[in-house]
Amino acid sequence: MKLHRTLYIKLILAYLVFFLLSFIIISSVNGRMILDDLTRTQAESLYRESRLVATTYGSDIYKGIDARETALQQLKAIDTYISAEIRVIDPAGRQILDSRSESNAVFEDFDPAAIGSYYLVSDFYGTFDEDYLSVFYPITSRYSVRGYVVIQMPMSAIYASRDRLLNITYFTMFFMYIFSLSVMVVFTFAVYLPMRHITLAAEEYAKGNYDYDPNVHGRDEMGYLGGTLHYMASEIGRSEDNQKKFIANVSHDFRSPLTSIKGYLTAMLDGTIPPEMHEKYLNVVLNETDRLTKLTNGLLELNSLNSRGMVLSITDFDINAVIRQICETFDVLCGEKKISIELILSGEKLFVSADMGKIQQVVANLTDNAIKFSHSNSIIKIETTEKGDKVFVSVKDSGIGIPSDAQQLIFDRFYKTDLSRGKDKKGTGLGLAITKEILQAHGQNINVISTEGVGSEFIFTLAKSKNIEE
Ligand code: ADP
Repeated sequence: MKLHRTLYIKLILAYLVFFLLSFIIISSVNGRMILDDLTRTQAESLYRESRLVATTYGSDIYKGIDARETALQQLKAIDTYISAEIRVIDPAGRQILDSRSESNAVFEDFDPAAIGSYYLVSDFYGTFDEDYLSVFYPITSRYSVRGYVVIQMPMSAIYASRDRLLNITYFTMFFMYIFSLSVMVVFTFAVYLPMRHITLAAEEYAKGNYDYDPNVHGRDEMGYLGGTLHYMASEIGRSEDNQKKFIANVSHDFRSPLTSIKGYLTAMLDGTIPPEMHEKYLNVVLNETDRLTKLTNGLLELNSLNSRGMVLSITDFDINAVIRQICETFDVLCGEKKISIELILSGEKLFVSADMGKIQQVVANLTDNAIKFSHSNSIIKIETTEKGDKVFVSVKDSGIGIPSDAQQLIFDRFYKTDLSRGKDKKGTGLGLAITKEILQAHGQNINVISTEGVGSEFIFTLAKSKNIEE
């Protein structure tokens, strides 16, 4: 599957869309709102002026030429003061006074009542070349409208104010956008790049390259994900390796006795081994078949132990007694190798809760190994100690020891150290695997402490019996 940079492109597109949308919204909606607001504020202020003009000079305008002239002078003064043109127009649209011209223009469609507002933005019936804000106030006399005061100023000033305000908004938006780009940068380094590394690693794992390191080390979720993935891949690699080794070992361990059986039998049949020697070699063949049976039984047993829900018949029994009894069964073997077993047992009796038959097997396996890998004239110590609700059983020898890199592997099926391969031809490499399965089914642990050439100590735990104290 080809990896496209889709996530990154999507994010950049989202940013561009965000930027464009915010620009469009600000320039259209905000521009409109600002303009309306500025226009209304300006209109309100002109409305106050027009009301003042209408109430102060309104009656003078209709009193006669002199009064009208005086009013005009006043309007001109106000015009200069507020920089706005002031007109007085009668309801028919005829201009009566104008602070900036003498004309008596007529505005055909003039009808402020129809506008629906007190102000209007337009070219004022074609009078101006640009937009003007015109504010109306009626001059009333005896309950009828006699004319309107119209104050006008160009919209250009308001447009300029709006543009200034908009520019400030654009400027702020631009900076916000630059700042928000820093989110992109953080995303790139914190999420995107680690994710690419992790994706590449996943591709490598899919190809079977389990040693590939994604190189994602942060303390955040990405670092955790990278680390977990790497761990998972190395575990898969390890279990694949183990499986290969397991098959290699099974084949090897079955092949060597079969080869020697075939060799001896062929030699007997073709006369290479004379008939008087047959008994000796048949015994060798018998030993080899014993070994094959032992191997097959071991494998069968492991398989049945391994299947989930191993049935344990838990009882309370005295582990000290079990150890003593197992040691007796090794008396002959110990005698041959001049090995003595020293028991350092906690108390007279020490009750534990476990499957007695299976624990006997564990103790026997460990003792058998200790004897097998001990030099003659040495001592093996078996010790029981109590700690809290646990009982620790230790089997310690001063034999050949286990190299440190092999110590985690000896519990794997068929594993034998190179040290033992030469010496122990009968071992199957299944004993410790069975031992570990049994203890795991009990929810207990087994550990090894060993120094090559000095000796080994195997320690396992058991649950102390809750019912029987002594
Ligand atoms: P085996 O039937 O070969 O003894 P185990 O599973 O019991 O199989 O042991 C696996 C290997 O662990 C042995 O072949 C040996 O290399 C090593 N080992 C086990 N116990 C000891 C010990 N007490 N001292 C040294 N090596 C040991």
